[in-house]
Amino acid sequence: MDIYYDVETKELLDLTRQDQQAALRALHLAVGVTWCECHKEQIFYRADSLGDALLAHERLIGFSIKPFDNAVVAHNYFAARAAMPIPENETRRAPPFVKREMTPAPETPEDFKRLLDGRSLDLQLDLETRLGYRLALNALAQGTLRRGKQGTPALAVIWYRLAAQLKQRYVYALREANDHEGADRAQELGAYYQKRLEQYCGTDTQLTRQIFEYGVKHRRVFFWDVEGERRSVKVDWR
Ligand SMILES: [Zn+2]
Repeated sequence: MDIYYDVETKELLDLTRQDQQAALRALHLAVGVTWCECHKEQIFYRADSLGDALLAHERLIGFSIKPFDNAVVAHNYFAARAAMPIPENETRRAPPFVKREMTPAPETPEDFKRLLDGRSLDLQLDLETRLGYRLALNALAQGTLRRGKQGTPALAVIWYRLAAQLKQRYVYALREANDHEGADRAQELGAYYQKRLEQYCGTDTQLTRQIFEYGVKHRRVFFWDVEGERRSVKVDWR
């Protein structure tokens, strides 16, 4: 069974840092959205429950997941699990009918990343191999589906911060100070930014799925190149 996924992080990747692997390890999961035939859309805030959901499926399909999303999940998985036991209702989400592979449980982030990478079909990497250069998801989505992304990684980080600050700090502070209407408004606004973040992440998961399905069906996908030409590339996805 396939699972499509995308994550957003709490911080932007620091591209100025010399050690890019260290910069990647420093990122924290803000949200992850998955889609699979068996569970439909699921939203995760914890790297451990997201990691478990991914491992319950045979193949992970995403865009840039090998260098990015898999690393974020793997490097946050053990810390998230150590910090807090997973609530009952989240563990119950694990599909009883999907047989887990009898591989030994990964013990380090590196093991975990290798396991995720081994099951991943990364559309960006696959297309890079064919074209010789890297495509942006938006160029591919606009070319193939004629619709694009709903934001940017920078916006996603801002939405995350606004949602977290409003909910964790200001709702509480306002209630403490007896401004209940203000607290309710802050709560609503926090929920609004949270929703934007989830929708942005969910849209990327859906775009990836639709591009993949298009490629399976038509044996090619389209993208806008840097010169503004719509071009196609053959794929043999299945
Ligand atoms: Zn599933």
